[in-house]
Amino acid sequence: MTLNADNQYLHDPSRRKILKSGLTTLFAAPIVASAKTSTPVLNTSNYTTASAPISFAPATDNPANISTLFETIKHEATPEQLYRFLYLMPKGGDIHHHLGGGFLPSMWYKIATDVKRNGGQRFFTRYRITTMKMHPLLNDPGESYIFQWQTLNEKTYNSLSAEFKTDFKLLSDLNDEEQISWMSSIVLDKKGEGRDEFFEYTWSRLGDLLSSIHVLTELFVENMKLFSAEGVRYLEIQRRLNSYKDEQGEIIPVEQSDAYWKWRLAQKDAIDTGVTVRWQGVALRFASDAEQQIREYYKHINANRDVWVGINMAGREDDNRGYPARFKDVFDEMLRKYPGIGISIHAGEAEKPDSYIRDTLRLGATRIGHGINLLSDEDTLLRMRDSKFLVEINLISNELLEYVPDLDLHPFPIYLRQGVSCCLNTDDRGMWDSNFTDEVYVAVKRFNLSWTELQKVAYNSYEFCFAEEILKGELLKDFKQDLELFEKQFSETNWENIVSKVPAVTHGYGRSVLNLRL
Ligand SMILES: [Zn+2]
Repeated sequence: MTLNADNQYLHDPSRRKILKSGLTTLFAAPIVASAKTSTPVLNTSNYTTASAPISFAPATDNPANISTLFETIKHEATPEQLYRFLYLMPKGGDIHHHLGGGFLPSMWYKIATDVKRNGGQRFFTRYRITTMKMHPLLNDPGESYIFQWQTLNEKTYNSLSAEFKTDFKLLSDLNDEEQISWMSSIVLDKKGEGRDEFFEYTWSRLGDLLSSIHVLTELFVENMKLFSAEGVRYLEIQRRLNSYKDEQGEIIPVEQSDAYWKWRLAQKDAIDTGVTVRWQGVALRFASDAEQQIREYYKHINANRDVWVGINMAGREDDNRGYPARFKDVFDEMLRKYPGIGISIHAGEAEKPDSYIRDTLRLGATRIGHGINLLSDEDTLLRMRDSKFLVEINLISNELLEYVPDLDLHPFPIYLRQGVSCCLNTDDRGMWDSNFTDEVYVAVKRFNLSWTELQKVAYNSYEFCFAEEILKGELLKDFKQDLELFEKQFSETNWENIVSKVPAVTHGYGRSVLNLRL
C-alpha cells in the first residue's frame, strides 16, 4: 500500500469548499444543502423547537427516476464514476466509530509532528531495536516490548534508561522511508496482519499519541472535515472518559478534558464542517474492572447528556473474560438507576456460533456492533427482524480482521433483505486506511444495493442513533432535504457531467484493494 502523507491535506475536501468553489457555480441549486454555517456541533441549545416526526419516504415526487438512474449508473459507470457518485451522495451518520481508530496514518504523522497543533510537544518513536531487554513501560501488552515504532511522549521517553533511549528518535526526524514504515505500522496493509496485529500491536504502537488531548482533538476536527466532505453529517464516537494527557504528559481530570473537547469542537473550523458529534463511553469488556468502568460511564453520561448519549463495550470477543452474561448484574443495576442512556455493544464479531448477541440484547442493548454470527443464531435473528434493534455493519473491518475474509459471504445483505435494520459504519477506518465511501462502495459492488436500500441504510443511522429526539428530528429533516437536492441535480443534468466534477478522495484501501484510480 502506498501511503501519501499529504494526500488529504492537498485535497482539503471540505464539503463547503466543494459547494462554494465548484459545483454550485455549475448548477442553479446546490448539490447538497448539508454545509450549514450555523449547525451547532456540541451545543444543543439551538435546538429549541420540537421536531415533527419524520417518516422515511422517497425524497422526490418521482422516486423511480433516481432509482432507475442508479441502476443505470451501476451498470454503465466506471468504478471511479460510481465511487464519485457515492462520495457525493448524502450518507447519514457514522455511529460505530472508535475515536483512536478513526484517524488515517498520514493524519497521525502530520498532527503529531506539528508543534503548532500538538500542544508544542515532542514525540519519540522506536525506530530500531538494539536490545531485547524488557522495560516496564514498554511491556504492554504481553511481548510487545520488542516491537518497533511505539511512540512515546517526552515524559515517558525521559523515564527510559539510556540503553533504551538510543532506540528512539524524534518522530519529526524520521526520514521519508521511516515515515512510510511508521505509517504502515499503524495500518493493516499487509497480508496476514489480521486481528492479532490489530488488537495486540497496532493500538499499542500509537502509545502516548492515543492519550494526548491536543493530538486527538486536532485530529478529530480534521476527521470532521473529511467526513463532511463525504456527506456524513453525524458522528457518534466511542471514546474513553479519562486518561487524557496534557502537553506535559500529565493526566487531566475528566471535567477538564471534557471541557477541552467542547471548546475545540466549538471553534469555527469544526462548526463549519456541519457535522454534529455525540459521544458513547466505551468500556473494555475483558478488563478486570469493567463493571466499575460501566458504573463510572453511566454516572458521567447521566450528568453530561448534552454531548454524551450512550455506552458501549469493546475488546476482542475471543477473550473469554469479557463474555456478555458477566455484565447482566451491572447493567440491571444501571437500568434501575438511569433512564434514556443508549446501549450499543459489540457482539457477534466472531466466526463461530455463540449466544453473545442474544445475551447482549438481554443487557439492554438496542444496537449490536458487527453481529456477524447472528446468522447462526436463528432464534435471535428472527427476533431482530422488523424490530427496534439495529446491527451496525462494518464491512471492511470484518474483511481485514478476517472475521469474513471473503466479503461476498458477509451476512449483511441477508439481514438487510430479511428486515433486520442495518447501517454502514467505518469502525477503525484509520487502521484500514479507508473512508465511509469505501464502505458504501463495497456494499453496492458486492451486494447490488438498490437506491431504496442505500437510503434506508443511511436513514437507519439516524433513526437508531442515540442523539436527543430534537436533534434526531433535525438530522432526519436535513437528510431528507439533502437527498431531495441531490436527486434534483441528477434529474436536471447528465450524471456523467456531475460525477466528473466530484473531487472524491480515497486512501490506501481504495487504491490497493478497490483498485480505484481517482
Ligand atoms: Zn468497533
